[in-house]
Amino acid sequence: MSFIESLTLALALTYSISLLYWSGKKWGALASGLLVSGAIISSFYWPLIAALAIAVVIMAIAAKWQPEVAQGELRANNLRESVKHMLALSMLLVGVQFVVNSALLKAGITPWLMRPDVGDAFLPIAGGIELKAIMTLGIWDKNHPAAAVMLTVVLLTGLLCKRAFCGWACPLGLAGEYLYKLRKRFIKQELLPPAWIDWPLRMLKYLLLLALLYIIIGMPTMSIPGYLNSNYHKIADLKMALFFVTPGLVTIICFGIILGLAAWRRQGFCRYICPYGALLGILSFLSPFKIRRNTQHCLIDAKGMSCDKCTRACPASISVHKKINIRSDECQACMRCISACPKNEALQFSTRNGWKLSARGLTIMLLTIMFLLPLVAYLGGFWHSETPVEARMYLIQHLDKIGH
Ligand code: SF4
Ligand code: SF4
Repeated sequence: MSFIESLTLALALTYSISLLYWSGKKWGALASGLLVSGAIISSFYWPLIAALAIAVVIMAIAAKWQPEVAQGELRANNLRESVKHMLALSMLLVGVQFVVNSALLKAGITPWLMRPDVGDAFLPIAGGIELKAIMTLGIWDKNHPAAAVMLTVVLLTGLLCKRAFCGWACPLGLAGEYLYKLRKRFIKQELLPPAWIDWPLRMLKYLLLLALLYIIIGMPTMSIPGYLNSNYHKIADLKMALFFVTPGLVTIICFGIILGLAAWRRQGFCRYICPYGALLGILSFLSPFKIRRNTQHCLIDAKGMSCDKCTRACPASISVHKKINIRSDECQACMRCISACPKNEALQFSTRNGWKLSARGLTIMLLTIMFLLPLVAYLGGFWHSETPVEARMYLIQHLDKIGH
């Protein structure tokens, strides 16, 4: 685990524990703090231990400088934006680390900056094949074990808290938001397509997901060990990077369409193209937490007034004010509708039996899933790639010649 990964992990877990503490769950925070610190210290891995010390100091300072947070007055929009930007910044640093590591390998120099294993999160097919290998053959991949871990993380978030990963964590979603805002500077009006175009476009991401699942499920079980030991798999991350930095004409056209969709409408990429979004959309139907409108408090039913502030705030164009439970696969649990609602109790992110999850609770849940699992995987030896540096250095020199 590189220092940037260690620091992000320590910061995220320390922040979750601080949120727990600030919300009055002091014993829970103490128990979690002891558990996480014990796990990190027992790793005897200095970057993790140093990162934990830095994270604790940062949180102690943050408590003084963020009276709003310390007093419990958290606004969902502020919290979501800061979580998203911090995660995007860490992914950017991870990207720089990956590029420097690869450039040194390509130049034939033993890298002084280690490869960030978390980058394997961008290998969903490899992750799917690895999960299949674990379930059918009981084999753990040695080359990109983090791919299976990160895929499991994403699947778990979908099962527990809808598409909160898209709404609160995804750096690509954040980039799409900025692109959309840039477009709005020049062309002010919304360019929402009519429903008869919107619906088939939304199905595109499900088709892409089907194609990915076809590759994973279609691979014969007995071929999996061969694939996991192949040179192609050993450098799947470099192949992926090469695909992005040396795009062919078809790739450039695809990128153009993706960027165009993101700029055209809010969450255009997530809504129409992203197969991860499709996967999470399907899993989100199983999530116990949903946005629920309480008719006893909503101005429409309780007071007979006209109101659609929640619907107007929704980036996924869901008619929140007309529904009781939001089951839509497009809901990213962003809580913008809750923030926009003038009545405190009218909208909640809750289970059917009334267990509510605040923005703070959702942040704790999301960060815990996203970072505790990698920590456990790291401690169990299922995180760091065992591909020798010399093998990667040799393979990167022959990248073009290595196929499936
Ligand atoms: S329904 Fe609410 S939580 Fe879901 S996407 Fe719309 S604004 Fe976000
Ligand atoms: S914003 Fe609140 S009060 Fe208004 S319609 Fe939506 S849930 Fe009801």
